Amino acid sequence: MINFTRKKNPMPELEPEVRRGSFAESQTGYTEEEAVCEAMRCLKCREHPCMTSGCPVHNRIPDFIDMICQGRFEDAYQILRTTTCLPAVCGRVCPQEEQCEGRCVRGIRGQSVAVGALERFVADWHREHVAAELKAREGNGKKVAVVGAGPAGLAAAGDLAELGYGVTVFEKSQVLGGVLTYGIPQFRLPKDIVEDEISQLKALGVSFETGRALGEDLSLDDLLGSMGFSAVFLGFGAGISRTMNIPGEDLKGCFQAQDFLNGINLKEGFSGFPEGRFPKYGTIAVVGGGNVAMDACRSAVRTGAGKVLIVYRRSEAEMPAHEGEIREARDEGVEFVFLHNPVRVVDDGSGKVAGLECLDTKLGEDDSRGHRKPVNIPGTEHVVPADCVIMAVGTGADDELLGKCGLETDSKGRIRVDPETMETSRPRVFAGGDAVTGPLTVISAMGAGRRAAAAIHRKLSA
Ligand code: FAD
Ligand code: SF4
Ligand code: SF4
Repeated sequence: MINFTRKKNPMPELEPEVRRGSFAESQTGYTEEEAVCEAMRCLKCREHPCMTSGCPVHNRIPDFIDMICQGRFEDAYQILRTTTCLPAVCGRVCPQEEQCEGRCVRGIRGQSVAVGALERFVADWHREHVAAELKAREGNGKKVAVVGAGPAGLAAAGDLAELGYGVTVFEKSQVLGGVLTYGIPQFRLPKDIVEDEISQLKALGVSFETGRALGEDLSLDDLLGSMGFSAVFLGFGAGISRTMNIPGEDLKGCFQAQDFLNGINLKEGFSGFPEGRFPKYGTIAVVGGGNVAMDACRSAVRTGAGKVLIVYRRSEAEMPAHEGEIREARDEGVEFVFLHNPVRVVDDGSGKVAGLECLDTKLGEDDSRGHRKPVNIPGTEHVVPADCVIMAVGTGADDELLGKCGLETDSKGRIRVDPETMETSRPRVFAGGDAVTGPLTVISAMGAGRRAAAAIHRKLSA
């Protein structure tokens, strides 16, 4: 029986007042009844565009949703596991409105089926009700090295281990998960969920070596030579913070969003946090309009700041952040200052931040990506008072590391790969994820890791 209600079953969430003071997950997930009711909205379309053109890893969406309709939640999980190794993560953080849900035919005359919320429900149900039974596969005698334990590296490692390869993941930092662990905040993606998905890879026999950086502690020659790996997969991301290159970015109280989020997520502070914890500021101004800026401002609210502002040089219509993130930030009390272009971080006279000097802007012609360009209005300099500034203006490639690897890159420092085989300019070295595409999404990185694993298998078994 189909549920023809035009609206999605809303995802239950904590009240904004509770969220403001807590890093607990803000959305609490469907109950079994809510999940079945939402699943009944799916038409099980023969063409299923949600799956074929919406989901980068082609999750079998109508099939797993059909299992939910029948109350067969574990069967739904097993269907998802044939195409994804991170369903609890993707169900939470995928930009579904641009992917599976964006293609859902129910979205034509109403709201799409809540595919992400259903995927999350199934993965959570499995975690809560079924003991893990994964065992290492019989080895095929060959070893593959994976560099970077983010979604690209984890997905490649999981598939290669399933195929019988001895897989070792070398990770620069002390924690596994990449951006999933130290970038995306706890209130959107609880860390125990990432740990649980990683523990399944460990059960499959994948070894992890943390604190081991390519380019510092080991080289591609070591891996392919003395260390005896038959192939290498590079999934080291594109996590080097970009700066605005304006005066005052080195003042006390001015942070890069990556450093701020890392410190908050890992709860151990970093050198910029006095006494290992983030101080309580009067006003925190976050510069940027993307999803990282939303994560930074919502985390800033939770540090107990008096006021949190988003300062963005275009208008709301041009913000690249997802609508849901903007709404949640607003509900939590974040104020938005549009059409403001920061030109200087102001010094209070003692080396600390006193504000952000901005010029008013107006919107001009479209740029190459079809976004209207912000144009400064001369003579409109003014200071937005703030005692802390967080820059969330993007990340890019690690040029130093790429130089050491000696691989071909494009003009933006992205590793060049053969799109069919994911092999780089050096034979037996494959790459995928943000290191190849530039900053993108969890699911696209995961999809690239899986494609690379299949290509490595083809090459090593030829
Ligand atoms: P990463 O996740 O960056 O992982 C790379 C790993 O390689 C890291 O663990 C790093 O420490 C390690 N590494 C780096 N250099 C070396 C080295 N030399 N040797 C060994 N290891 C190394 N995407 C979404 O789909 N939804 C979201 O909601 C979302 N929110 C985001 C929020 C933030 C704050 C950020 C920064 C990104 C967000 N993204 C989101 C983007 C998404 O997280 C990335 O596209 C994805 O993590 C890329 O995966 P990856 O495996 O290529 O790289
Ligand atoms: Fe949708 Fe992402 Fe799940 Fe694919 S992995 S079905 S895009 S939520
Ligand atoms: Fe179900 Fe929508 Fe996919 Fe059709 S397009 S199968 S309604 S999720």
